[in-house]
Amino acid sequence: MKNGPIDSKNVGQRNEKLILSMLFEHKKLSQSQLCRLAGIGSSTASTIVARLREKGLITETPGQSKARGPKPVILRLNPDCRYTVGVEINPSHLFIGVFNFDGHLKDKISISLGYDHSLENVLDLLSVNVPGLLNRNKIENAKVIGAGITLSGSISPDGCVSLSSPLGWKEVHLKEHLQPFFDFPVSVYSNRVRLLSEFAISANLASKNILYLNLADGVGSTVYMDGNLVSGSTGRYGEIGHIVVEPDGPVCGCGQKGCLEALISGPALTNKIRNESDKMSSACFAETDSSNMPEEFLKQWFLAADNGDSYALALRDYVAGHFVRATCMLINCYDPEVIILAGYVGLHFHEHFTECIREAMQKNVYESSLRNIRIIPARAGEDALIAGVSIATRQRLLDWLAQ
Ligand SMILES: [Zn+2]
Repeated sequence: MKNGPIDSKNVGQRNEKLILSMLFEHKKLSQSQLCRLAGIGSSTASTIVARLREKGLITETPGQSKARGPKPVILRLNPDCRYTVGVEINPSHLFIGVFNFDGHLKDKISISLGYDHSLENVLDLLSVNVPGLLNRNKIENAKVIGAGITLSGSISPDGCVSLSSPLGWKEVHLKEHLQPFFDFPVSVYSNRVRLLSEFAISANLASKNILYLNLADGVGSTVYMDGNLVSGSTGRYGEIGHIVVEPDGPVCGCGQKGCLEALISGPALTNKIRNESDKMSSACFAETDSSNMPEEFLKQWFLAADNGDSYALALRDYVAGHFVRATCMLINCYDPEVIILAGYVGLHFHEHFTECIREAMQKNVYESSLRNIRIIPARAGEDALIAGVSIATRQRLLDWLAQ
């Protein structure tokens, strides 16, 4: 079959996307490295590179070489040709970041929500503060390729929040509500995108099969297999927080009783500690401010556990028991080679949880001796969500860029 003009155009666009993706991953490449990695010939590469340069998406600078002859040309993404906006909505704050085309965080702001995480308040704040951040950095709307919004919850492919227990949102058409405020495309993602920011720090992770476990305001998992984030058919993938582990336990935000999230999420543990003040052996949980959100409030628990307080350690072991049982089930299901522990609770106790997982695997994981699993803490830090959603936004929009 002969290739018609449409096929050629498609091939060209595919190659432009391929080269941009490689530069996102490797930051800088000579043309010969690019040809090797992409498996394309040098004349094809030259044509594509010229097109991307004309669009202003990449830059070329002379490289260093000890060999005689012409110096290699180094290709990089043009950092200021386009921008992405990443937004994290959590129960206490909005975090908004603007990222260069090469993925660097250019500027960010955080805005306290107090206890008002209603949709109306979030829309009001985003409609003012996203343009405010862009203006502060003198970025025109035309240069913004998109805004990605992320939150803890189940998100349908059309940007509807089916359920976010931490925010108390059900069937909220977030994309539909937000899009009219902006001239650039808005996308909504669950906070599974956080894993993408780990790849930006450790590129070799992208070739592994990964189970990412988050234990913070929500309890969730992300599975990355064979080079893809697994998303399921309705966006409700990885919802380990809604596995029922105590059928008569407390009511969860989803309406069920005794979900893992209703027992060991940050908000659930905050309530538990506040209700059990009579069981404490010391005054280390003295409430300093009753309006403290879970992440702030639980710092007292972390400190008390580090100091050997018996109540704090018993609570840590209670969380570990539930968390480790769920983890062993997931290991049996997904056979990961790397487990990443994340979230403010998961990270604080990652060494203890790692030990407990290793111990429990011997009893609860099928053929555990034949598995070789590395368990590591998440490294992307406090900007993990805005960086991750910015990467997801950029990936989705590569099609548009290559036109
Ligand atoms: Zn639930």
